[in-house]
Amino acid sequence: MAELRFSALREVFNREPVTVRTPEKNVSKYFGINVFDLHKMEHYLSAEAFRVVKQAIELGKSLTREEANQVAIGLKAWALERGATHYTHWFHPLTEGTAEKHDGFIEMGERGHIVENFSGEVLVQSEPDASSFPSGGIRNTFEARGYTAWDVSSPVFIVGATLCIPTIFVSYTGEALDYKAPLLKALSALDKAATAVCRYFDRDVTKVIATLGCEQEYFLVDEALYYARPDLVLADRTLMGHQSAKDQQLSDHYFGSIPERIMSFIEDFECEAYKLGIPIKTRHNEVAPNQFECAPIYEEVNLAVDHNQLLMDVMKRIARKHKFRVLFHEKPFAGINGSGKHNNWSMQTNTGKNLLSPGKNPKSNLQFLTFLINVIKSVNDSNDLIRASVMSENNSYRLGGHEAPPTIISVFLGSYLTGMLDDIVNKVTDRKMTPAQKTELKLGIGKIPEILLDNTDRNRTSPFAFSGNRFEFRTVGSSANCSAAMIALNAAVAYQLVRFKKEVDLLIRKGRNKDEAIFQILKKYIQESQRVLFEGDNYSRDWHDEAARRGLSGIASVPDSLKAYLAGNSREVLISTGIFSEKELEGRVEVEFEKFTKKVQIEARVLGDLAINHIVPTGIRYMTSLIENVRGLKEIFDEAEFSKLAAESKDLIIRISDHISAIKKLENEMVEARKKANIITDSYIKAIEYENNVKPFLDKIRYHIDKLELIVDNEIWPLPKYRELLFTR
Ligand code: ADP
Ligand code: MG
Repeated sequence: MAELRFSALREVFNREPVTVRTPEKNVSKYFGINVFDLHKMEHYLSAEAFRVVKQAIELGKSLTREEANQVAIGLKAWALERGATHYTHWFHPLTEGTAEKHDGFIEMGERGHIVENFSGEVLVQSEPDASSFPSGGIRNTFEARGYTAWDVSSPVFIVGATLCIPTIFVSYTGEALDYKAPLLKALSALDKAATAVCRYFDRDVTKVIATLGCEQEYFLVDEALYYARPDLVLADRTLMGHQSAKDQQLSDHYFGSIPERIMSFIEDFECEAYKLGIPIKTRHNEVAPNQFECAPIYEEVNLAVDHNQLLMDVMKRIARKHKFRVLFHEKPFAGINGSGKHNNWSMQTNTGKNLLSPGKNPKSNLQFLTFLINVIKSVNDSNDLIRASVMSENNSYRLGGHEAPPTIISVFLGSYLTGMLDDIVNKVTDRKMTPAQKTELKLGIGKIPEILLDNTDRNRTSPFAFSGNRFEFRTVGSSANCSAAMIALNAAVAYQLVRFKKEVDLLIRKGRNKDEAIFQILKKYIQESQRVLFEGDNYSRDWHDEAARRGLSGIASVPDSLKAYLAGNSREVLISTGIFSEKELEGRVEVEFEKFTKKVQIEARVLGDLAINHIVPTGIRYMTSLIENVRGLKEIFDEAEFSKLAAESKDLIIRISDHISAIKKLENEMVEARKKANIITDSYIKAIEYENNVKPFLDKIRYHIDKLELIVDNEIWPLPKYRELLFTR
């Protein structure tokens, strides 16, 4: 059994970096060559078709059949020139990846010869057989049809020889079955609500987009070692493994020089990303050994999400070429840092103004404060919804652990802005303000430094931290499709901005001047959001107690936090904004419950197999050799000497035997617990049962296995150890 481990290690020791040749030295020369962007559209489309698509992108309109046909002609010409043979609608089902079904351009021509064809019809819509995608009971199998429809706002791209068309995925009856359809709705709700509020300050604003830059953390493991770990292969994380004597204690990996083999992989995937128009900018070693991070330049949210999904795909593909496996799991190794996907988020107007960046004068600073405080109020009021959007089985192992925010969602502002908000609360009066009071207030906000970025203290423990010109939502998991988080956040802010505008307008109608009305409502919001503002150490035990006192929940249970999607406030936010229908929302949560249950189930099965078929036999083998040894000692030595010499071995035999018995007993109990849970039909109750009565066995069994790892002869231990997985490359 241990042969696999040792041959894997030998393989790794002999690896050479794969040499990469980038197509051009300068990225600007080839950036986006595989993307049908505006520039290429202008070249390949007729003037009329170009005008129509551009308008569709800007106004979110759809194309007529005739218009689509026009676009398809140019698109096909470009795709064939780039060597594409197939096309696919590319979408984000409610699984953890993206989906595609390829069709060739080939068709039988009229004279019986093969031609390449591509029509507007197949560009804008397709009907993949959707019966196997999760829908949460929205679709019955007899009406399994779903269709995909082109999302014009995200450009078409080529991967390999396949033309990929980003699409939404909806059921035949119109319910969303993916992440993109509701995301587009949330972004459009935000646009509408934020634009209306912007117009208090600037009549030139006609559109607001949300922006997203996601920092992606990941681990790399050599392919040979990966294959020797069935838990990594099947469950994406290690279910056992004693901590390595040295791991991240010395912080010597963080920002260290990037090893050559890794660098070669990074350069290669970055090059592929650039060809796909993904603007990767940053790369560095992370805190844990073999952990790394990359981050792109931020983009409009929908595009940024597509790019992040695509990037993860590219990374997985390129990693294979370099004989690595990339792990996006939130907690692949116990006891060291997990991986997140920090979502840096802001809003930007068509006039180029970042709404979370202070300006040069009191007027634009009032606009900045308006958006800042409305975001805080949204996170306060939709606190449970925002947590629900990032909770998953994977992420539950990370949150609240090493270097990861807890499940209590609070907002960090930094001392400067905290002081500013206190000022507003103290200086704004409920009655009509005197000119002197107004001047004082405006003087104060006029002083907010334009570049807060350099003035903000950063709090790396906060789940939702203001970082100078954006919020950094750090709770999002590294393997997640950030759509879920972005749907919740943008919906919550959109909903809040609509309320804000109503309240301000009401005061204006009552005779208040505009600025005064705005100040008054902002003051009220600050007072109402106190519980969510926290500047201290989010990792500390004290904060948990304090949060509980404040009535800020920190539900750690995954099914229970997911349930918050269905609570009154979340329903109100998601349904009144038109982002989900009742049926869609319920279906979605159902899918999440099932995903949770299935993940725990898979982990339990994998661990059961490894424990009984790999670890227990290894333990017995070692125990037998100890028994042999004791027998030998007995033959050679007299009674007195024997009992002295054999004491230690006997003790070891007992310890091994105890661990083996415990593993067998716990594994039996875990199987029984699963049987009990599996007959439950209600998906929420089943998930709770899995959480409370199955999941705990994973740690209990692991405990004994990890103890055995410390005792058993290294020569026969079957699975690569942490020190090998984390330090060998
Ligand atoms: P950190 O110091 O937090 O690790 P990084 O440089 O790794 O910072 O990542 C910061 C991310 O924030 C980048 O993706 C960057 O493009 C993004 N970002 C910067 N400004 C904005 C903005 N206005 N809206 C959204 N994202 C932004
Ligand atoms: Mg970073």
